[in-house]
Amino acid sequence: MPVYEYEPDDRDCLMCDGRVDVIQGIGEDPLKYCPWCGLDVKRVISRVTFKIQGSAPEDNTSRKGFTTFRKAEKGVWEKVSGEGPDVLTGTKDDIAAVDAEKAPPKKIIDLDKDVS
Ligand SMILES: [Zn+2]
Repeated sequence: MPVYEYEPDDRDCLMCDGRVDVIQGIGEDPLKYCPWCGLDVKRVISRVTFKIQGSAPEDNTSRKGFTTFRKAEKGVWEKVSGEGPDVLTGTKDDIAAVDAEKAPPKKIIDLDKDVS
């Protein structure tokens, strides 16, 4: 199965160290949203690598609890692969948090720094 690398579209992902590896079947549609935090992501085509099935001594992905979710609608994520619940439903607070996350980052001006 190919491992596709995604990176956030317009800002750093706070939950995934900036880059996300997702194992997908060939021909599957690219993810539009980060499976962990729901931010917009784009596939980094040039970084596609292939893992040959059965070659790994251990199933790294399941050992890490790797589960892929796809955002189905506002506040609802459907499981794409892996273990865990088939559907994640965000609470009102979760949805509000995601919306807040999507808002443009505020500029922080540090007044103590380099005031000249
Ligand atoms: Zn993310």
